Amino acid sequence: MADIHIEAAKKNLEKKGFLDIDIDVNLDLFAEIERLKKEKNAIILAHYYQEPDIQDVADFIGDSLGLAQKAQSTDADIIVFAGVHFMAETAKILNPQKKVLLPDLKAGCSLSDSAPPELFKKFRDKYPDHIVITYINCSAGMKALSDIICTSSNAQAIIESLPKDQKIIFAPDKNLGAYLKKKTGREMVLWNGACIVHEIFSLEKITKLKIRHPKAKVIAHPECEEPVLRIADFIGSTTSLLKYTIENDAQEFIVVTETGILHQMQIQSPGKTFIPAPPDNMCACNDCPYMKLNTLEKLYLCMEYEEPKIIMDEELLIASKKPIERMLEISHRYGL
Ligand code: SF4
Repeated sequence: MADIHIEAAKKNLEKKGFLDIDIDVNLDLFAEIERLKKEKNAIILAHYYQEPDIQDVADFIGDSLGLAQKAQSTDADIIVFAGVHFMAETAKILNPQKKVLLPDLKAGCSLSDSAPPELFKKFRDKYPDHIVITYINCSAGMKALSDIICTSSNAQAIIESLPKDQKIIFAPDKNLGAYLKKKTGREMVLWNGACIVHEIFSLEKITKLKIRHPKAKVIAHPECEEPVLRIADFIGSTTSLLKYTIENDAQEFIVVTETGILHQMQIQSPGKTFIPAPPDNMCACNDCPYMKLNTLEKLYLCMEYEEPKIIMDEELLIASKKPIERMLEISHRYGL
């Protein structure tokens, strides 16, 4: 009977994005996941934006750069990627021979969706003498059209590693691109993409919050819009925001990025207060709806049945690998 349910769930995988199977409510999922990790020599890589339970069972928690580096160096047979699709795809590109599992295939990314490869190719072809630097938050199709991939941790170093007269296209995030233009003083052609989570923060609400908490430091991710970045005390990748909260003497922080990172901030600095910045909408949450599609139940199911897994076309795999390797090589050179 159980086998019939599994087969039916597998048939529905494409439609649902995950294995829709009932789990015994008495099952200790934390213990089961630990068992599966050992039995299958599997590693769980989780992004900072994942729900706390998932972060707690992960072997490694990081931002896009850290996760890509870990995916490149792991000797596990199975990589379970608790993050969004482009991240699991990157892990697969770096480990074509390994099984890469994603708890929910529908965990996409609005920023990645804002850059369809066929449209971007036409855009790129208008600037034949430009190098294409693409933020890792994009599809494999976009990566294959790029010269170098970057993350928010290494973007500045990558841009500055190029000769000053080298013309650059930066895609897909226009906010990160504008921030980097300012930071590096380099003229870059920007693709008009954005992240729904980082674009929605309310300058007005953050300013009010800052009045109520005058000693709080405002820390923001560079995917946020320029007016929000202007009032930030510190701007950085998710990892550097976390590091800043550990090292800075302030006791209160207004955190202008996805709320998942607050879990690690609280673990690392239990005595400090972390206030999630409010978005400009009717609800108070700034969760990424894609990241939060993954749940502990779906994580357990994908490890137990080894589905859904990332499957990629061989040609695309090879084409998208080169710009990622270039990023990792430059990061390594700069000690990032
Ligand atoms: S937070 Fe934004 S950039 Fe990150 S996965 Fe969600 S939609 Fe994409």
